[in-house]
Amino acid sequence: MNELGALLIDIDGVVKRGSTLIEGSIEAFDIIKQSGVPFLLITNNSTKTPEQLSKEFEEKGLSIEKEKIFTSAKALVYALNSKKEYTKKALEGVLAIGEEGLLSELKQSGFKLETELTQGVVVVGLDSAFNYQKLVKAMRSIEQGALFFATNTDRTYPTEEGKLPGAGALVCSVVACTGKRPVLVGKPSKIFFKAALSALNLRNSNIVVIGDRPETDIRMANKNGCSSVLVLSGVTTQSELNKLREKPSFVAKNLLEAVKKLIY
Ligand SMILES: [Mg+2]
Repeated sequence: MNELGALLIDIDGVVKRGSTLIEGSIEAFDIIKQSGVPFLLITNNSTKTPEQLSKEFEEKGLSIEKEKIFTSAKALVYALNSKKEYTKKALEGVLAIGEEGLLSELKQSGFKLETELTQGVVVVGLDSAFNYQKLVKAMRSIEQGALFFATNTDRTYPTEEGKLPGAGALVCSVVACTGKRPVLVGKPSKIFFKAALSALNLRNSNIVVIGDRPETDIRMANKNGCSSVLVLSGVTTQSELNKLREKPSFVAKNLLEAVKKLIY
């Protein structure tokens, strides 16, 4: 492989599972940091802020600066600022279905959060307090002309206790009652990839994506002409490998094994 340009490393199922670090993660980052290869931790999960995630890692003995963490909430802000039409609508107000990670990113970026109806923008991310009233507001806002964005469409996400419904399950309920499809800003969208590279201040050159989910991580790599490593520490099992639609450059047991193959 040519010299590594940068590593985009998925978080859930690669670095951690729920709030537990996956075996070898600390050693893997020691190797990456020593090598000097630029890296960014990427996640479709918009519930936590980079600050919260960085602190969580720190408590487990893994030091990752918040600037090295890129969430789908950040990709949303990048998307809203990327097109005049989006920016204009977003400045009218944003009805955000989501948690702290999404809400604070929007506020910090100067967008006004709506709690009632808006003709601006509706964004749906993972929200453990999602309910019928929120669905009503999202539906009515979109019917009145608000643009519809989704942080991601992951059907589930892995935790220590097994899978839980992901943002995709919530997004589907809004699609069902409006008949509208959202603009996706999370992986595997091109906008997420572009936004992540811009956060790293890099162009697309020898980027390697390391992830556990073929339809998001590996698909994003394939769509953008990057190499990729599929790790088996998350949602994908060994027995699923022969029926993958999105093929990675190679498969590794976990992040540590992937990093050793890429860097040594
Ligand atoms: Mg993952």
